[in-house]
Amino acid sequence: MTAHVTLGTREQARDGAPTLEAFSRQLLASGILSPSGVDGVWVRSATFERITEAVQRSVTALGRGRYETIQVPPVIARATLERAGYVRSFTDLVGSVHVFRGSDQQHADLLRRCDAGTDWAAVLDPADVMLSSAACHHVYPMCAGRLPPGGRRVEVRGECFRHEPSSQVTRHRSFRMHELVFVGEPVDALTHRDAGLAEGLELLSTLGLTVEAAAANDPFFGRAGAILADGQRQDAAKYEGVAPVGDLPTAIMSANYAAEHFGAAFAIATAGGVVAHSSCVAFGLDRVALALLSAHGLDVDRWPVGVRQRLWQ
Ligand code: ATP
Ligand code: ZN
Repeated sequence: MTAHVTLGTREQARDGAPTLEAFSRQLLASGILSPSGVDGVWVRSATFERITEAVQRSVTALGRGRYETIQVPPVIARATLERAGYVRSFTDLVGSVHVFRGSDQQHADLLRRCDAGTDWAAVLDPADVMLSSAACHHVYPMCAGRLPPGGRRVEVRGECFRHEPSSQVTRHRSFRMHELVFVGEPVDALTHRDAGLAEGLELLSTLGLTVEAAAANDPFFGRAGAILADGQRQDAAKYEGVAPVGDLPTAIMSANYAAEHFGAAFAIATAGGVVAHSSCVAFGLDRVALALLSAHGLDVDRWPVGVRQRLWQ
């Protein structure tokens, strides 16, 4: 989370870029994204997907030969989200999955509620899965036990949910994250974070984006969360790559050093037998696509030749 610019009703920012509001209006008018009827959930056009798929390929190419590649589903074991500390620290962002486990009688109750237009969801029970909040959460249970020498590197991509409803086109409840994750020796985890940040910023700038690194913190919940956020900033544990979408500086990637947090929570030991450290470099695919549309225009076929070659050749 970095500081966000307050939106006005202006059409153009001082440097001549359209405001986020104006950019969003053009984006929706073009049909590249369409509203779903609820805040923070967008229907993605073929054009939008053409961009996110090309960005995915670029991220994969960045890690090629160095990472195992996995794709993860949009749901995750509830126990994993608890162990990751997400439920305690980001309580307001969590999304739960509820299912029907009732009897015929409870089914009749649900039908009555549907007919009456009252809350039928009250009849459902929480499942043993939740909505996934970060792609890298799927990696840590896979690494439980003793790691091979040199640790493990995993490239992971998946749909994520965070309950932060907003009408802004940059803040989704359902969005894609593509991450390069390292789990292993403490010194290697920090090196991975720093190298990944530099390589990620380089990749994004070769796509014609004006991107800057900024120290950041995660949006920990509540009063205790403010202390955790301060600690994270003091430890310089999180950096974001920030690029404009309209006139809004937007975090399109982050580079995070989690120290022993996940290693301890998931009982991961290095080859030498100490608690593993981890780091991840996370690209927000939807936001990278928006930054590209904002920088180069809504007509993808008229983007600068160099950018199109990098993405599609
Ligand atoms: P923010 O600062 O915007 O709240 P964050 O610090 O919570 O983001 P991370 O946990 O670092 O984000 O997530 C990695 C990347 O996923 C972010 O850099 C961003 O590009 C993307 N991302 C995070 N939250 C959202 C969201 N609500 N909508 C779209 N993309 C998101
Ligand atoms: Zn991560």
